[in-house]
Amino acid sequence: MSQDLVNAAIAASANAYAPYSNFHVGAALLLDDGQIVSGANFENASYGMTLCAETVAIAKANSDGTLRKIVAIAVAGGPAGQVAANDEAITPCGRCRQIIKEVADLTERDIPVHCAHANGYDTYLLSELLPHGFGPANLK
Ligand SMILES: [Zn+2]
Repeated sequence: MSQDLVNAAIAASANAYAPYSNFHVGAALLLDDGQIVSGANFENASYGMTLCAETVAIAKANSDGTLRKIVAIAVAGGPAGQVAANDEAITPCGRCRQIIKEVADLTERDIPVHCAHANGYDTYLLSELLPHGFGPANLK
């Protein structure tokens, strides 16, 4: 099942708009009913306004009303529709880790993030990717 989610992330990368970096990233969210929501990075000429694939997928789930159903995430990057020829897993950037933390706090799940690389994928829990993260509890 996790490989299916990684494959969905790889497939989503084919839809990335990445004319500047040429690094196509796809993300896929597994919902608690088995549905998959995908996203791809959307670059911008200003660079700083670029939207990451994970952010796009999570915003899509939010718009669909399925944010609370997210149980796992996969991310893959490289050439469009492929995984980078690199043994090092593609992990979410710092901003995306913070966005995933919001989902983790909302769902009360330590979200597993499957990160693709040339030989498969590595799985990290959000708490491993973002230890001591800032969340809703800090605002109380
Ligand atoms: Zn990111």
